[in-house]
Amino acid sequence: MSISSRFNRIKEELPATVRLIAVSKLHEAPAIREAYDAGQRAFGESRVQELLAKYEQLPPDIEWHFIGHLQVNKVKQIAPFIDTVQSVDSLKLLEKLNEQAGKNRRRINVLLQVHIAREEHKFGFSFDEIEHLLESRIHETFIHLNIKGLMGIATFTGDEKQIREEFAALARLFGKLKERYFAGKEDFKELSIGMSDDYLLAIEEGSTMVRIGTKLFGERNYNYGNSI
Ligand SMILES: *Cc1c(COP(=O)(O)O)cnc(C)c1O
Repeated sequence: MSISSRFNRIKEELPATVRLIAVSKLHEAPAIREAYDAGQRAFGESRVQELLAKYEQLPPDIEWHFIGHLQVNKVKQIAPFIDTVQSVDSLKLLEKLNEQAGKNRRRINVLLQVHIAREEHKFGFSFDEIEHLLESRIHETFIHLNIKGLMGIATFTGDEKQIREEFAALARLFGKLKERYFAGKEDFKELSIGMSDDYLLAIEEGSTMVRIGTKLFGERNYNYGNSI
């Protein structure tokens, strides 16, 4: 099936309140172009070098989302154009993003990544850490950032009940943080949960943004980059 037919199928399933972020990591520019031509504008990437190469090759009105672990020393390279960093997992990264957004005279949207999976290796703030951070009110000093919400990645498991519980826990945290620290702030509204295998569950639990790769583009090419 072509990327554009897959795209249309996925779009039909998504409620109007849920945005699709097309996760194009490890797919070549022509595949992204095909989704773009079908009407998709928001794409997610998880490696800085790969993103920079694609940014240069593809149309300027693409809205790039960074969704992988971002090293503080690489922020500078993407700050001139990145629309959203969904994977903010430390105060240091927030500070650097704010600084670089200011230097580029623009605003960068960010989501705070929360660790919801039972797996150890995933990145993100713990529930306690994020409360602690917001309690300090330091986020209010980041005038070059829009803090738009939370992002989470569920455990890689076939156990639907567990995935649903993880999403529900994040949705509850989102509601609580919104009330306590972002009351009246229209911007804080996004809950980025759901990938190819679990986005329908995520939508039932309140997702406003699904990050879909495989279901749209097919299997990832793990030799990506060897050819360029
Ligand atoms: C790769 C990735 C996705 C997309 O995963 P699929 O299962 O291919 O849809 C979504 N979110 C993040 C953070 C990712 O790294």
